[in-house]
Amino acid sequence: MTSQATMSDMPSCHEVIQLVTDYLEGAMSPDEQERFRAHLDNCDGCGAYVEQIRTTVRVMGHATPEALSPGARQELLAVYRKWKAESAGRHSGLRGKLRKLFGR
Ligand SMILES: [Zn+2]
Repeated sequence: MTSQATMSDMPSCHEVIQLVTDYLEGAMSPDEQERFRAHLDNCDGCGAYVEQIRTTVRVMGHATPEALSPGARQELLAVYRKWKAESAGRHSGLRGKLRKLFGR
């Protein structure tokens, strides 16, 4: 037995988006955090996504679950899917969208 996370243990991209606020707030168990990070290490899209959120949180000064209403989460998911589909490298537009979502 090893403690290394396998692909099947990892959260899906969808779950990463759902769990990102928990992750950034340290609301995850160490085990969950390990699996979350393992996904980020293996998924450029989610890695970039979490970095964007982290940067946004730093700018806004907070990231509470309340800050991401269900509607905002849905919109975020749509933005993310569109962004991922359109370009893997360019994501300058995402930051503006996130600012709008977090800024309410
Ligand atoms: Zn992913």
